[in-house]
Amino acid sequence: MIQSLLIANRGEIACRVIRTARQMGIRTVAVYSDADADALHVREADEAVHIGPSPARESYLVGEKILAAAKATGAEAIHPGYGFLSENAEFAQAVIDAGLVWVGPNPSSITAMGLKDAAKTLMAAAGVPVTPGYMGENQAPAFLADEAEKIGYPVLIKAVAGGGGKGMRLVEAPEAFVDALASCKREAASSFGNDHVLIEKYIASPRHIEVQVFGDRHGNVVHLFERDCSLQRRHQKVIEEAPAPGMDAATREALCAAAVRAAKAVDYVGAGTIEFIADGSGPLSADRIWFMEMNTRLQVEHPVTEEITGVDLVEWQLLVASGQPLPKAQQDLEIHGWAMEARLYAEDPAKGFLPSIGTLELLEFGEAEGGRIDTGVYEGAEVSPFYDPMIAKVIAWGEDRDEARGALGEMLEDTAVWPVRTNASFLVKALQHPDFAAGKVDTGLIGRDGEALAEAPMPSDEVLEAAANSLVPITSLAGFRLNAASARSAWFSLDGEKVEIALTGEGSDEPDDAVLVTEQGQAWLLSPWRRDGVHGGADASGAILAPMPGKVIAVEVAQGQTVTKGQKLLTLEAMKMEHTLTAPFDGVVAELNATAGAQVQVETLLARIEESA
Ligand code: ADP
Ligand code: ADP
Ligand code: MG
Repeated sequence: MIQSLLIANRGEIACRVIRTARQMGIRTVAVYSDADADALHVREADEAVHIGPSPARESYLVGEKILAAAKATGAEAIHPGYGFLSENAEFAQAVIDAGLVWVGPNPSSITAMGLKDAAKTLMAAAGVPVTPGYMGENQAPAFLADEAEKIGYPVLIKAVAGGGGKGMRLVEAPEAFVDALASCKREAASSFGNDHVLIEKYIASPRHIEVQVFGDRHGNVVHLFERDCSLQRRHQKVIEEAPAPGMDAATREALCAAAVRAAKAVDYVGAGTIEFIADGSGPLSADRIWFMEMNTRLQVEHPVTEEITGVDLVEWQLLVASGQPLPKAQQDLEIHGWAMEARLYAEDPAKGFLPSIGTLELLEFGEAEGGRIDTGVYEGAEVSPFYDPMIAKVIAWGEDRDEARGALGEMLEDTAVWPVRTNASFLVKALQHPDFAAGKVDTGLIGRDGEALAEAPMPSDEVLEAAANSLVPITSLAGFRLNAASARSAWFSLDGEKVEIALTGEGSDEPDDAVLVTEQGQAWLLSPWRRDGVHGGADASGAILAPMPGKVIAVEVAQGQTVTKGQKLLTLEAMKMEHTLTAPFDGVVAELNATAGAQVQVETLLARIEESA
């Protein structure tokens, strides 16, 4: 058995791996960048090695630095987590060549599944049904357009080297094909350094269903049933569950058998996931589920499988990497109940899901029986702009789907984070969506109803009134009380918004300057409204700050211009996405410090809006 393990990752997955390694008596070594000097994974590991500057390209993605850290600390094995170097066959080989244990599949399996076109060809040969489409070498636009015609619209153009939901274009009709192809190839070249694409039939009402597989070095391969990850936003998973709603025993048997065949075809060792796309327009059936890709690593959503099978997948990874056989045979694996996971992100759904960077001054997770939180941060930690801004995975278990869904909703509703924004209330609303509640999920649900789900909630009157009461001195209310007790109200600033709140209580002996209101997974700062514009909320002063480091790509207003609330002021390109900054209220552009093309640091004052008199 290995005695020491270096985790070549950060955040929640590094903490997750450390937890199991510690239980198994394995010494753990963390690695960290500048931005992560105080990160939770550094605190939790037995030892930690600094590996360079904050950008991942200069730290977490540099294989030589990871290997040097392993050498310096005498770590015997390397666990790559997910993302970063986890699916890098060259790195896996370098680990092995350095005489270390690679906690993952053979590099040849990673290579075989690394490109989507080659993987599909291989799978088709192994008798695994693959999504119909063209997956060959010819990349000439006219040829590909012909292939798209043959497949039949709508089609999906996919970068063969793509991942994380990027490098994909849905094309509805032939006229749009050439432009979509060019733009997909551009994105593929810049994001993945490989502009080859494949063309796939776009499956109507698609459901994403995947199977967890596990192999060992003794030729055993088992599956640990399926997960449904159909609730997605822009091809990225939002809520995952196991088992899949509406899965009958015969379909499960056929799907999981295909997954095991797929794993065996590449001599798979360790934890892997076979992703399938299912036609969700009717009941699930094995002849309408096709192989999409294999992820040759531990998956973000692995906890839902752990919760329904009772298996610790990281423990199995470490046992298998140490040369031991799988602890259980297929017939010893069973599904118990239902599990559901939500990815809690530091982002603001009401602002186009703009990542929300900063210090987690308040961080409280809701609880439920059987609930689990996998996190990589703590109260007081920073959400930095350098990495995926996931705060935690919130995982619930229940006897059945409704129980798991209810428990997850409770955990998210009771989650309170401030001043960083989260998607908690968005997740709560998604869980309550009638189609999701009924188990009628397809990957387009959020796209169709996303606007309503993303709308910022308001706290309830009771909660607001109770909070307002704590901000008002008893003395100021004493006079009122006798005559107009029911009609008293005052102006407050709720995250910078001017709101009128009824004063129904008695006031407080020691009023606070401001109070945090938390409800529905959301937190707001409430303070008495002041004409001088000094408020707790970020928008109250009218200062338009860069929410993250980036580049100004458009300035829509001029100094002195009158603007109305919600009007577009400027566009910032950050983390490869465009973010629009808008006027927080009606007013004039009193200050404008932004020019198109300028690089700006986080919290740079870009403009200031002054309220109209
Ligand atoms: P997973 O379910 O593990 O996310 P995907 O194939 O969808 O599987 O994603 C591939 C990898 O891309 C993930 O392992 C993760 O590291 C990364 N990824 C996923 N979502 C995001 C995101 N929102 N932002 C950045 N990277 C992401
Ligand atoms: P990635 O490597 O980015 O995870 P995938 O091939 O796994 O790429 O696809 C990501 C998501 O895109 C899927 O989960 C699904 O929502 C959607 N998708 C992929 N292929 C198809 C298809 N042929 N038809 C419909 N949707 C698809
Ligand atoms: Mg995928």
